[in-house]
Amino acid sequence: MSDRRSVLIVGAGLSGLVCGMRLAKAGFDVDIVEELTYPGGLLASSRIGKEYLELLPHHLRKTDKALLSLAKEEGLSVDWFDSLWYGRASRRKVGYFPGGFASLINILIQDITDNGGRISYSTTVSEISSSSDENGKVTYTTSCVLNNSGSLEIVSDYVIFTGSCRSFVNCSHGLPISINYRDQLMNITYKASISIMMVLKRCPSEVYHQRFDASAPFNRIVNHSNVFGTRSYGGNIVYLVGTCSISDALWIASDEEIMDKYFSAFHKMYPVIKKSDIKSWRLTKNRYSVTEKYPDQQLYSPAPGMFICASGLIKYGTDEVPENRMDGIVSLANDICEKIISSTRSEENTSVITPLAEGI
Ligand SMILES: Cc1cc2nc3c(=O)[nH]c(=O)nc-3n(C[C@H](O)[C@H](O)[C@H](O)COP(=O)(O)OP(=O)(O)OC[C@H]3O[C@@H](n4cnc5c(N)ncnc54)[C@H](O)[C@@H]3O)c2cc1C
Repeated sequence: MSDRRSVLIVGAGLSGLVCGMRLAKAGFDVDIVEELTYPGGLLASSRIGKEYLELLPHHLRKTDKALLSLAKEEGLSVDWFDSLWYGRASRRKVGYFPGGFASLINILIQDITDNGGRISYSTTVSEISSSSDENGKVTYTTSCVLNNSGSLEIVSDYVIFTGSCRSFVNCSHGLPISINYRDQLMNITYKASISIMMVLKRCPSEVYHQRFDASAPFNRIVNHSNVFGTRSYGGNIVYLVGTCSISDALWIASDEEIMDKYFSAFHKMYPVIKKSDIKSWRLTKNRYSVTEKYPDQQLYSPAPGMFICASGLIKYGTDEVPENRMDGIVSLANDICEKIISSTRSEENTSVITPLAEGI
């Protein structure tokens, strides 16, 4: 039997993969479970033409310290481009990996598996419980439901949950967490998002990023190809990004209905672009997309050995325009891993019996 410390990570998005990479490299026995059939979470990519492209628009900023340092550590170079932003008009430098963000996700997965870690897809965590032995050592048991209607239980020394704070509360009835702590997590609210990525025959404008208030069903247009080029996508990439509440009629509308609504608003803004200019499109819905209301205090460790690494815990942007950014989540993932690694080091140190010096 292995005496390595084990960690179960819920979610194979950026934060789950960063934690997995750090802990697998530090010698932990790492298991990652992901409810979807693919990795990346909000940063997932799909093959478009001959390239991998994010389903939601992503770029790097010069201020993304933790993210840029992760990229450097993983040997990924970043290309920087000038971009024009409307709304709060300005020119900004934005960064992109030569192989897209799929290259970051892939290299993290490679590091995890090279260091003995495992990633299981189509595996949804439904319940986490804990028990402790006579010495007070806590062990977690995580119950998972598989897509083929099977089930699985994973026992581990640590758990890192990277889904939304609300999903964590729903899975954590078997944990000794106070009602007050649960209430604070439940008070963190999220907006859902509905985004459409279009491959167009032509480019609608020279602007990279355009923000709207209430004039359209979406609130952002991102002209990806204006800045990062058409590469081998087979056309110009334009994203229409909208946020909504899950009680909005749009949330349960069909993809075609949503596309009709989004495209007719887009066409009013850019009459030159016609439906016949669309080569292909893909719609993505995310239930927990942007945090609306943040907690007043740090809530990332609800129990010893248990951590929540979720965007909902880190405030970015302004109250009017809240944002979730990769940099904050990478930084939190780094901190959590550092805490886990140093806690096992101090356990090892206390369990070592220091030999007495000769002659005493
Ligand atoms: C439209 C949009 C554009 C963005 N653009 C940028 C940008 O340009 N720059 C930037 O810095 N950031 C951007 N972001 C934010 C960025 O995408 C996120 O900060 C980052 O991807 C969050 O990663 P994560 O791993 O914390 O969460 P997620 O990506 O949400 O990953 C969590 C994973 O956990 C899985 N999961 C959840 N519950 C369970 C369960 N019970 N069992 C098993 N698996 C589970 C989910 O399926 C998911 O894969 C953008 C976000 C959006 C919505």
